[in-house]
Amino acid sequence: MTAPRLEFDLNKIHHNARTLVNRLALRGISVTGVTKATMGSPEIAGAMLQAGVRTLGDSRIKNIETMRGASLTGSMMLLRSPMISQASQVVRHADLSCNTEINVIKALSLAALEAQKKHEIVLMVELGDLREGIMPDTLLNTVDEVLRLPNINIKGIGANLACRCGVTPDSRNMAELSDLADAIEASFDLTLEMVSGGNSANLQWALNGAETRRVNDLRLGESILLGRETLHRQPISGLHTDAIKLTAEVIESKIKPSKPWGKIAQTAFGETGGLGDRGLITQNILAMGRQDVDPDGLQPPPGVKILGASSDHLMLEMMRRGHPVGSEVSFQPNYSALLYAMTSPFVMKSYGI
Ligand SMILES: *Cc1c(COP(=O)(O)O)cnc(C)c1O
Repeated sequence: MTAPRLEFDLNKIHHNARTLVNRLALRGISVTGVTKATMGSPEIAGAMLQAGVRTLGDSRIKNIETMRGASLTGSMMLLRSPMISQASQVVRHADLSCNTEINVIKALSLAALEAQKKHEIVLMVELGDLREGIMPDTLLNTVDEVLRLPNINIKGIGANLACRCGVTPDSRNMAELSDLADAIEASFDLTLEMVSGGNSANLQWALNGAETRRVNDLRLGESILLGRETLHRQPISGLHTDAIKLTAEVIESKIKPSKPWGKIAQTAFGETGGLGDRGLITQNILAMGRQDVDPDGLQPPPGVKILGASSDHLMLEMMRRGHPVGSEVSFQPNYSALLYAMTSPFVMKSYGI
């Protein structure tokens, strides 16, 4: 098989999704399966749906179009606030979208009217992480404005924490979200079907027995794909952390000095080398570089150390033994490495079971 390649074990991803769906069901929470790190892969999305995920979420309308094209059955949610320039694509392909700006919602309303469709929205609320969200004290005003717009239904509210600033979902901010849902229903003739509490960073809060109250949905990506919670990146018990691996081929295998020689200036990427002298080492070069992956997000196998990367090369120190030219080395990607590899046209994708 060609390399570099990203291999997905669909059975393991299905197991991870099913386990989280079951555990959260006991807490009254359903799962929106987030596909954005996989470019809306229909294979991954299909495995999530089979595992009991109700809704598929992706941040890009192009990925949602890909999943639509594969005739998947789930309802599809655009996670990132729509661009006004894409309003008609959004109402055509997504069943619902997350929103924070009234002018965007107006554009969606017009586009939905034109397409003779209803479009559902989730209003995202700012709870302190300072990425997207309507400030809580203006939420009721926004709801009031949205209710006047034709062909738009407010399906619920949501929040997103631990993305930009690492603000932790806890009983305080989740109670605030529940209170806001209650306040909206008390002020308007409206039932909020969905209160979407957050992402994989919410799992600790959701599963530790805290009162979940109105929160009845979580949008989960990384925990399903990589089997880890995202506050401290610890493995989640009972989940596979090795469902995805990235493999590259050895193109040079030599004994070399560990210390460069000559006058030392900047490297290709503006860093300074500055490696200590550890004598002779076994150095392997893989045909995989920054055009394929984020090298900082790779976990090498035991006995292998990543020395550096350029656009097209990954240099490894083999502590035990060198691999022959033509053989392969596999890594576990973190979320960042997965994103880079998935979006690189140079990396082949394979969906085994
Ligand atoms: C990416 C994203 C998620 C999923 O986050 P994970 O950490 O992968 O679970 C959830 N909600 C929104 C709005 C997102 O952008």
